[in-house]
Amino acid sequence: MFVPRLLAVLIILLSFTFAFSQSKSQPSDKFRQLEEILPTPNEQRTASGAPGNKYWQQRADYVIDVELDDVNQRIVGKETVTYKNLSPDTLNYIWLQIDQNIFARDSDAQTTGTAPDFKHVPLNRLEQLVARTYDGKVNITNVTDTKGNPLKNLLVKTMMRINLPAPLAPNGTFVFNVAWNYNINNQRIFGGRAGYEYFPADRNYLYEIAQWFPRMAAYNDVSGWQHKQFLGSGEFTLEFGDYLVRITAPNDHVVSATGVLQNPKQVLKPQWIQRLKQAETAREPIKIITQAEATLNETNQPTGKKTWIFKGDNVRDFAFASSRKFIWDAQGHNVEGNRVMAMSYYPKEGNPLWEKYSTHAIIHTLNVYSRYSFTYPYPVAISVNGPVGGMEYPMICFNGPRPNADGSYSAQTKYGLISVIIHEVGHNYYPMIVNSDERQWTWMDEGLNTFVQFLAESEWEKNYPSRRGEPQKITDYMISENQVPIMTNSESLLQFGNNAYGKPATALNILRETVLGRENFDFAFKEYSRRWKFKRPMPADFFRTMEDASGVDLDWFWRGWFYTTDHTDISIENVRLFQVDTQNPEVEKNLQRRQADAAPVTLSQRRNESLPKRIDQYPSLRDYYNDFDKFKVTDQEREEYQTFLSGLSETEKSTINSGSYFYVVDLKNVGGLVMPVIFKVEYVDGTTEDIRIPAEIWRYNNFEVSKLIVSKKEVKAIVLDPNLETADTDLINNFFPRRAVPTRFQTFKSAQSGSVQPAPTQPLTPTPPTVNQNAGLNGRWDILIASSGGQTLPFAFDLNQTGNVITGTIESPQGTFSIRSGTFQNGLLTLKTSSAIGFTFIGQISGNNISGTVIAPQGEFTFSGSKSN
Ligand SMILES: [Zn+2]
Repeated sequence: MFVPRLLAVLIILLSFTFAFSQSKSQPSDKFRQLEEILPTPNEQRTASGAPGNKYWQQRADYVIDVELDDVNQRIVGKETVTYKNLSPDTLNYIWLQIDQNIFARDSDAQTTGTAPDFKHVPLNRLEQLVARTYDGKVNITNVTDTKGNPLKNLLVKTMMRINLPAPLAPNGTFVFNVAWNYNINNQRIFGGRAGYEYFPADRNYLYEIAQWFPRMAAYNDVSGWQHKQFLGSGEFTLEFGDYLVRITAPNDHVVSATGVLQNPKQVLKPQWIQRLKQAETAREPIKIITQAEATLNETNQPTGKKTWIFKGDNVRDFAFASSRKFIWDAQGHNVEGNRVMAMSYYPKEGNPLWEKYSTHAIIHTLNVYSRYSFTYPYPVAISVNGPVGGMEYPMICFNGPRPNADGSYSAQTKYGLISVIIHEVGHNYYPMIVNSDERQWTWMDEGLNTFVQFLAESEWEKNYPSRRGEPQKITDYMISENQVPIMTNSESLLQFGNNAYGKPATALNILRETVLGRENFDFAFKEYSRRWKFKRPMPADFFRTMEDASGVDLDWFWRGWFYTTDHTDISIENVRLFQVDTQNPEVEKNLQRRQADAAPVTLSQRRNESLPKRIDQYPSLRDYYNDFDKFKVTDQEREEYQTFLSGLSETEKSTINSGSYFYVVDLKNVGGLVMPVIFKVEYVDGTTEDIRIPAEIWRYNNFEVSKLIVSKKEVKAIVLDPNLETADTDLINNFFPRRAVPTRFQTFKSAQSGSVQPAPTQPLTPTPPTVNQNAGLNGRWDILIASSGGQTLPFAFDLNQTGNVITGTIESPQGTFSIRSGTFQNGLLTLKTSSAIGFTFIGQISGNNISGTVIAPQGEFTFSGSKSN
């Protein structure tokens, strides 16, 4: 990383040298107004960034009947869509999103996927490559008008066009029906923003279902139909509407969904309804379904089906979750006058983390986000634990983190869970309500949301370990190779998380703390959120609103942070000191004498000192100049000075004699990003002063400027960006005089033994060993391997113990392998497969539990599990 960075700096330096020699003025104007890049304001979108007086958007209302087939893991649905054309245009056809088709074997997402880097293949990716038989293609079985007449349509991969029988005029309504079905993806293998998880221990499924019905594509004033293919990254651009959804599931399932349950008496047990009532006014989350009840439910067999009816109004999408494994807790909460039921659904595998944190995190998110934007408008807010790592839908979101099988958890898992819940619940604001075009601009929802997430995390606990938001956390990315500007289409982003989440969130934090100040930023940001609540903003609407409301020209900021890959690296090249010549010979000659005395004696002078001198041999050679003191003030000089003084006013005299120090600080913009210059000046007398200079200091010359610091006191040192607020990527050149920046490095006896400090894990209440001493380790052990991205994979050991020697087999999703060598010593179990397969499991046995590390060809993963009875 070090070499490319040096190279990049060198290239930048070379390019300015070139620029200077080629042009009379700077070729770069980083303060040039954005107007020529941004779309021309119009009656839909004004120059102030607000929706115009002719702003319009389409509307789509849905009535959907869906059946979740728990035997075959299938969705079978039919819907009636009422589409209102509120645009000024007549439409001859309409487009729908069939996003689940991304799982069709011939989808663009599958066929355009590039080869993995075989150095780091996560286990689930390996399974994806091996188990390619799954086809998630959506079968559209019927597209009809209200009378049941078929409508001509064409499926174009993840989009479907319906050719309208008659043109749909402005203000017209078109009602149509679609029926469809598809096989749900195993999320643990195929990934995705929805899917199912299978729990082998109790043989149950947990479903998180989204992008599951044909949804109206957006038609808008900027892009017409937004029907860019879904390739997996650019999420969903949708219209608002009201949803009535009837979900039929096995009658022992618990269903959670966008909206409010309409038929609780038909689907909930009386005690659940009673507990829900209690939860409305509770101070802490109340269990609607306890862990004991949920565990009992796991062994159920359904005796039929039940239909859950949900109504979600003024939403742009609808998602649901279903399982017989769900524990359910809830707490009513008043968000700025709106009564909201905050609810969490999770399997027992999520505890103890989920019951402790999930619903609290939901309520915390609603409180903080509402304060920075607008009051949460919906009646429920739900967090569900399942296979999906983190994904948002209106009123409901899916969050992945779980503790280890024994209930222990690392700090990373704990804060990962709280952060992901804040993030996904926070998405209700951006983009579920501030309805940006996700397929085009990932940053407009992810960046803004990650920024407010950072604000919410800072109110969770002191020094919350936020991953994104602090400027210093983005510096490695900012200088990395292989990056594109934030203003890049979602499907073409490189370094997705840093580009669309980390960088914009950090930029907004810097805008708030350093450029605008909290009060002004918060006012403008809130104004943007309110202007575009339930509407569809574009980047220009955000940029313009932030300037319009704050009264600050931020074009340089948007240009640098959003349209380029420049980074902050400002260097103090030099500090030069100037002082006034008082022309007073008594002062100046004295000073000259001190300087002469202080001047170094050269090497030759020193060596020549002892040489015998001729004028000492012949003193007659001496004259006036041999004894002349050039620093002695003459009468003539005194007179001249008096004459000079007599021509000055009193003010002029005191200005000249003020004794001021003029420090010229020469600054270089190495990284290219123009940013405010923040100095901490340390004086010789021990005092300090903070000087904050807006970025406009760079407006005449984007690369080199000199700043004057006038002081009565002598400066000892100057530090640039002392509070680490500008994401300056190289701190070494921030000090005048330069300081050694300490770095500690570790040294190892041999190249391989680079030890990693174990992450702390909270201690568990110790459980006495319960391994049957006679049975030893013999028998079956079910374990889960945690691979990257919070995924888990089920494995099992079948062990035979003879003394310290272990034999047997290892069951994996790919097949069963025999153990080539196995040992059990001092509580440590080591199992190796043949080198062709290349697995080594090293596990600590504690009672009937095991936890440890598996070293696989794909990398190192942790695992945990227990002995089955
Ligand atoms: Zn997100």
